[in-house]
Amino acid sequence: MKAEVILMKCPEANRIYGVRVEEWQGDWFRTWAFPVDPKRASHEGFDRNEIKGNLYPANEYNGCPYCKSVRFVQCSRCGKLSCWNNEERITCGWCGLTGDVTSTEDEIEVKSGDY
Ligand SMILES: [Zn+2]
Ligand SMILES: [Zn+2]
Repeated sequence: MKAEVILMKCPEANRIYGVRVEEWQGDWFRTWAFPVDPKRASHEGFDRNEIKGNLYPANEYNGCPYCKSVRFVQCSRCGKLSCWNNEERITCGWCGLTGDVTSTEDEIEVKSGDY
């Protein structure tokens, strides 16, 4: 089984967190979220992990460590992931873009990059 850690950002807390993801039969499952500081994330290479495909929450997924959301959106501009609490309009925690919800957990592609 393949496992990676990807980064998400909570727009409410304005902080990043790591999400452990595991591949199972071609899909990815989020199993555990934990607070992480940017220095450690960079040191561990979390910001360079890339995954592709569906990204579902596993049954045991604990959600964002700050706002507890288990859902997320992918920004249409920077491609990064932020918490989503089912609002119609979203704000990207990374680049600040606001807009309508365009893509959620289906068929995402996480790219690496700066934060
Ligand atoms: Zn959050
Ligand atoms: Zn963005």
